Amino acid sequence: MVLKQHSSPAPTASLLSTLDYDVAIAGAGIVGLTLACALKDSGLRIALIEAKPRETGLKQHRAYAITLMSGRIFQGLGVWQDILPSITPFCQIRLADSYDPAVVNLHPTDLGTDLGTDLGKDELGYVGEHCVLVQALLNALKDAETITWLCPAELVKAEYGTDAVDLILSIAGEPQPIRTRLLVAADGSRSPIRQHAGIGTHGWQYWQSCVTAVIRPEKPHENIAREHFWASGPFASLPLPGNRYQIVMTAPHAEAKKWVEVEESEFLAELDRRYQGQLGKLELVSDRALFPVKLMQSDRYTRSRLALVGDAAHCCHPVGGQGLNLGIRDVAALAEILRSAHERGEDIGDEQVLRHYERWRKLENLMILGFTDVLDRVFSNSWLPIVTVRRVGLRVMRIARPLKFLALRLMTGLSGREPELARR
Ligand SMILES: Cc1cc2nc3c(=O)[nH]c(=O)nc-3n(C[C@H](O)[C@H](O)[C@H](O)COP(=O)(O)OP(=O)(O)OC[C@H]3O[C@@H](n4cnc5c(N)ncnc54)[C@H](O)[C@@H]3O)c2cc1C
Repeated sequence: MVLKQHSSPAPTASLLSTLDYDVAIAGAGIVGLTLACALKDSGLRIALIEAKPRETGLKQHRAYAITLMSGRIFQGLGVWQDILPSITPFCQIRLADSYDPAVVNLHPTDLGTDLGTDLGKDELGYVGEHCVLVQALLNALKDAETITWLCPAELVKAEYGTDAVDLILSIAGEPQPIRTRLLVAADGSRSPIRQHAGIGTHGWQYWQSCVTAVIRPEKPHENIAREHFWASGPFASLPLPGNRYQIVMTAPHAEAKKWVEVEESEFLAELDRRYQGQLGKLELVSDRALFPVKLMQSDRYTRSRLALVGDAAHCCHPVGGQGLNLGIRDVAALAEILRSAHERGEDIGDEQVLRHYERWRKLENLMILGFTDVLDRVFSNSWLPIVTVRRVGLRVMRIARPLKFLALRLMTGLSGREPELARR
């Protein structure tokens, strides 16, 4: 099964200490790196295969909302103390429907007291830059003897046998065969591995795209995360260190494209209009980037000798900042299942073993995919009956503690089965 004709990734490959592995992780984005960390002391021999040079991830300044659950998983992995000083906790989420005055403010007290850990006592989540997460994960993997980096190396062929998968990597243009008991696809939403394993997907492209940028407001952001709903789509402002905001503006394709192309002053004037001048003078401190938005769920997360994680398995609308967080939970679940199968002497690539992972994660992810889809459709809507229902809904939410509690459990990742890593 050929994924791609051999290409010629530029620089040199890192060491190839052995050609046989228990787990080959294809893709060293945040999800792939987190899985390598979760398995590094399991006794399994891991190959980490990444097409781009290792430093690429350190140059990306895109930021993500990180849920309390992801924070706990990073804490369980021992990387949280490296991450926490460079990210921003947010202690309030402000939900608003365009100019409607019925703003809903969510606080840590709305989550209840039975959290079992200090994470979540004073905050509802965090915002961290890609490079910060990658650096902490790379630091944790630095001396791991069980991890072999194959980078830059592109996985170009996978042949699934009864006992192993035979992989061909392209390293500096040369084919390099390796053999592994299990292949994990952490190769992003287009996942050539998923496609060539014949795993179908369901989902759709939205009529919207997202514009991302970083701004610095004149007034302090006070660690407040804002999700404002406009008829064109959700508009999120996520607080970053240095009194900056990562903004994620969703709008129909043509409008989103326009906001990337207009003069900086016109873009900032639009933001100022949305904030109603509450943040003072705004400064744009990054380029603007445009992302198409899609929802996708793979029909299967596993087959014999293959597991899909992160965007390779599912993608969702960025509203609520859930996509990466789902991938981190996939990793915690898969690592737990692989570790215990290995301890029991079972074959970690066996379909029956991998099915436990699929059963655990597929439905939980589907719930969040559905939640983000409903949020986007209900709030990107100017049909009067829907506008009326959602404005009444926001007013009810302001006073109904159980509603706040349920929404927050979902958004913070605290609903669903808790992985063992999050309890350490
Ligand atoms: C506008 C926007 C805002 C978002 N905001 C948030 C947010 O606030 N919070 C959140 O949780 N999520 C957010 N997301 C979602 C998040 O960006 C993704 O879920 C996450 O980046 C997926 O990570 P990943 O590691 O699975 O995949 P990727 O980051 O795509 O990594 C895949 C890796 O695989 C490598 N690769 C691919 N093919 C091969 C191959 N054949 N061989 C070797 N290597 C290969 C690639 O080079 C890459 O490094 C947002 C998404 C968008 C579009």
